[in-house]
Amino acid sequence: MIAVIKQGVPADQVQNLIAWLETQKVAVHVSEGEYNTVLGLVGDTTNVDMELLQNLEIVENVMRISEPFKNANRKFHPEDTVVDVSGVKIGSGNFAVIAGPCSVESREQIIDVAEQVKAAGATLLRGGAFKPRTSPYDFQGLKADGLALLEEAKKDTGMPIVTEIMNANHLPLFENVDLIQVGARNMQNFELLKELGRIRKPILLKRGLASTLKELLMSAEYIMAGGNEQIILCERGVRTFETYTRNTLDLSAVPMLKELSHLPVVVDPSHASGISRLVKPMALAAAAAGADGLMIEVHNNPAKALCDGAQSLTPEQFADVMNGVAKIREVL
Ligand code: PEP
Ligand code: MN
Repeated sequence: MIAVIKQGVPADQVQNLIAWLETQKVAVHVSEGEYNTVLGLVGDTTNVDMELLQNLEIVENVMRISEPFKNANRKFHPEDTVVDVSGVKIGSGNFAVIAGPCSVESREQIIDVAEQVKAAGATLLRGGAFKPRTSPYDFQGLKADGLALLEEAKKDTGMPIVTEIMNANHLPLFENVDLIQVGARNMQNFELLKELGRIRKPILLKRGLASTLKELLMSAEYIMAGGNEQIILCERGVRTFETYTRNTLDLSAVPMLKELSHLPVVVDPSHASGISRLVKPMALAAAAAGADGLMIEVHNNPAKALCDGAQSLTPEQFADVMNGVAKIREVL
């Protein structure tokens, strides 16, 4: 349920109403907009007298929210959320580009790629240290050593770092990670999501391999229910009957998610297509569709990459994509 407060109501009157609502056993989420304050009531709202609330002098409107996601819902929080990743803002017109290799492989590799993607305009550095691989015989990532190398690259370039967590027990290792990624395979690892709700660090939540947008938003809700509201959603393609591409990029997810939710939405054209030559057209299309950012895999030697070489761009190709994206954003 949401209650929209009339414009110009003094703060102490709003506070009194919140205190009263809290006695009704609901949690109150306050969203202060430019014009209106919106109170979102989470929990069992069956005891809240909707008519009584509606008739209060200070209340403009009361509505029930039918969607099962509350905190992530735009009705709860009409204005776009801006996620701040160690000074890099994403959302509400702030466009961020996350770039870097699928996996951190060596000091030389990650420093070289970091410097080159930064020069091309990337704002955040990615690199997998704990890798979710389909085969247990494939490279599993450098783990803690990979995180240490990412930290070196961060010191060298000043770029905040983004890397995937697969196990909540690893959280102490992620202290210096600026944006924690939950990969497609863990989107519905609810115990992990609950742990991430307890911390106060931004989370990049990728859409599951065959997940609906509602399921993605419910996963965001798991994190937000714990009090961590700094979430970036990521469309990375879903599995369909098509086999020429690794996945099928669902671009309609961008405007749909932005309509349903206030959270920023980024697109990963690398995992969505699986083919490096498709990354540029899909990145441009994502920017045109209104994405708040991109996540692109870049390797200094894609042919030798230990993971996802076929979809990785060279730093030169990445710079070309950045030029194209800048042009699309100018037109918008
Ligand atoms: C990744 O970003 O490295 C990754 C494994 O992506 P996804 O979870 O989308 O497959
Ligand atoms: Mn990858």
